[in-house]
Parts: sequence; structure tokens; C-alpha cells
Amino acid sequence: MNDFNLHTHSCFCDGKEAPEKYVKQAIDIGFHTLGFSGHAPLPFENTFSIKNNDILNYCNTILKLKKKYKEKINIFLSLEMDYIPGISWDFSVLKNNYNLDYSIGSVHLVKNDNNEKLWFIDGPKAEIYDNGLDEIFNGNIKEGVSHYYNQINNMILFQKPDILGHFDKIKMHNKNRYFSEQESWYKKLVKQSLKLVSEKNVIVEVNTRGIYKERCNSLFPGEDILQQMYMLDIPITLSSDAHHPLELNKYFEEAKYILKNTGFKNLMYFSDQGWKKQKI
Ligand SMILES: [Zn+2]
Ligand SMILES: [Zn+2]
Repeated sequence: MNDFNLHTHSCFCDGKEAPEKYVKQAIDIGFHTLGFSGHAPLPFENTFSIKNNDILNYCNTILKLKKKYKEKINIFLSLEMDYIPGISWDFSVLKNNYNLDYSIGSVHLVKNDNNEKLWFIDGPKAEIYDNGLDEIFNGNIKEGVSHYYNQINNMILFQKPDILGHFDKIKMHNKNRYFSEQESWYKKLVKQSLKLVSEKNVIVEVNTRGIYKERCNSLFPGEDILQQMYMLDIPITLSSDAHHPLELNKYFEEAKYILKNTGFKNLMYFSDQGWKKQKI
């Protein structure tokens, strides 16, 4: 296999194992490249991100592995950065401070500027999504989802991530309960964000985690959106968002089949010479 994964979480954040275990597994399954992207520290208590006093240790650990295994695999240092307006650290500050190879920008917490509260849309529990929607957006799904895509748009405009993480994550706990992805208001929001993605030349990741964790029955982004991305010539990468070494290439073969059928020819990956294309 000639695969790679740029979106990997270890025990430094909410992943399960020490980074070296992922490296060994990646070599075993024939990866040429592995990028670590722990959740970037946030300026408030939370259960998923790297702690402020642990971030240098994280960086040093990955850099040591990069050296140790350089004959066998290319290892890169990154962070999955949350964008929460007025709260999260600036992506460029994180990238410069920790000398990162690339950045992944994601929205997991949607801010309502009217009450300053945060709606957590990720994690295994749908109740948290449901209760958050009620409490923070008065149960108004259009409001909540609009805020989500608006936050994505502002992240693209003002933070300029190299990779946009799980573009339509907001659908995960919806499961057609609050809205259909075919409704015109939803499609309009997606279209607006894709236009911005295309203008700003951001790489969109095709993320398989929702499917293999059985939290969702489509990729992030789903096939309708992938079709539009193909028409807009948006560059993509394929990632598993692995939280365990055995997840590193989960659902990759199926995803590549879907991508090829959509028309995509290449995946983007990071190298010592910067971004490169690889045939699917
Ligand atoms: Zn994420
Ligand atoms: Zn992630």
C-alpha cells in the first residue's frame, strides 16, 4: 500500500496510544508518510486537547520519532486547531511557536455571539448535541447550523488553515432528525463555504472517522458535497482522524473507490519539499 495519514491523535490529547505505536503500525501497513495532529491547547479546561504544559513535550516527542524512523517513514508535526472566535489561539501563532509543518483547522465548538455559549457538536453522545442545541440556540437548528458554517468561513478567511478538517461534521448527530442535507437553506450554506474554500485554495480532508465509528453513514464531506468540490477543482487529502494505531487506514479503500467514482484523480500529502500530489 502507498498510503499516508495527516490527521492522527495520540495519548497527548484524546488518542489512545503513545505516538511511537502509531509510527510502528504505519510502517507495518506500508505508509510513506504519517502526520501527527494532536488537538491544539485551548485557553479553557476541556477533556480533549493537549494541555498547555504538555505541548513542548508533544512536539519534542514527534521530532525525536521523525529522526529515529527517518529511513522508514516521513513523520510530520502538526496540530488540529479549533477555531472559536475571540477564544482560540491564532493559527499562525501556534504554527510559528511550535514550528509546525502544516495546520488542520476544525470547528468542534460553535459559538453563539448573543450569549457567548459554546455548542459542542462532536463526541460520541447525541444527547450533548441535542441539549446544546436547545440551551445555546433555543432549539433553532437553522441558527445553530448557520453559526457553524459561518464559523468555518471566518476560520478560512482569518486563520488560513492548510487543511480544512471534517467540513460537514455538523451533520453527524443530526441523522436527519432536525434537517435534511437536501433542504435548500442547508445546501446554500454549504455552497457559500465551498466557494470560499475554492477561492482561498484550502485543501479539504476527506475524513473516514464518522463511518468507521458508526456515528454517520457518509464521509466528511458527504458524496453530494464531494461532487461539488470536484466541479470546483478543490484539492483533497484522505485522512482517518485516527485515535488508535489500528484506525490509521480505516475505510481508506472504500473512500478511494468513492473518490475515484466522483472523478478525483489525486490526493494531496505533505513532504519535506512541501505539498505533493499522489494518484488515487
Ligand atoms: Zn476534529
Ligand atoms: Zn481529529
